[in-house]
Amino acid sequence: MTGWTATVLGVAQDGGLPHVGCRCPRCEAARAGRRRREKAACLGLRDGAGRVFLVDATPDLPDQLHATGALRPAGVLLTHAHMGHYVGLAHLGKEALGVRGVTIHGTPLMGEFLRTHAPWRSLFDEGRASFDERESFDLGGLAARRIAVPHRQEWTDAVAWEFRGPRASVLWLPDIDSWDAWLAAGTDVRDVVRSVDVAYLDATFHADGELGARDMSEVPHPRVTDTMARLADLAPRVRLVHLNHTNPLWDDATPATSRGFRVAAEGETVEL
Ligand SMILES: [Zn+2]
Ligand SMILES: [Zn+2]
Ligand SMILES: [Zn+2]
Repeated sequence: MTGWTATVLGVAQDGGLPHVGCRCPRCEAARAGRRRREKAACLGLRDGAGRVFLVDATPDLPDQLHATGALRPAGVLLTHAHMGHYVGLAHLGKEALGVRGVTIHGTPLMGEFLRTHAPWRSLFDEGRASFDERESFDLGGLAARRIAVPHRQEWTDAVAWEFRGPRASVLWLPDIDSWDAWLAAGTDVRDVVRSVDVAYLDATFHADGELGARDMSEVPHPRVTDTMARLADLAPRVRLVHLNHTNPLWDDATPATSRGFRVAAEGETVEL
């Protein structure tokens, strides 16, 4: 099956925008309807027959699935077990969508975590979903491959996903601790970005000091300033995603766009 597309269904960090417990002007503006609300980062893959695969299951899954035009996903590909990336699986269970025959893709550790913990295990116990832990596979004219990334391994390990179709290739990498940690593990982000047409990269924080008094080392992520310095010559391939509610790029993207980088926008589509 050809005719694959990848559509951005959300661009925010796990907690979305407005962010729970936050009274910052940006979050207050979103609550008051003076700026748009932002969903957690998610990518939707759709083939020419209308089959839809969600890359990550966010708390915003109902709206994100609706935006794809599909009534249910054919599959879900997970990056890791932090709340913005998998708790949306709860919508697949009998209290909501009540799916049958959905394939959930992820690492062996992710599969083990889901199969052995309530409430997730009921998806498998009730025959609603099966787990596919292969590292690379064909979705039907679209090659999918996961790439391990270093990211706080609390419940599971973490990955990025790469998709290659006849027309283009895309990388989805919403969370990583640092580019140096990836390099130490043998992967140079420059090589990875160079190998794809579009790379959606972790842009949680723009710069140091963004969390006020909170220690930013608690939540390691590359700073966008660092990412732009490393990837200056590859800027046209990069789309910044997974922005925390504190990220100033929400309201003024010129620090990125003036250097040829783009902030991902909900609804943007790549023909794969
Ligand atoms: Zn995240
Ligand atoms: Zn806020
Ligand atoms: Zn995470």
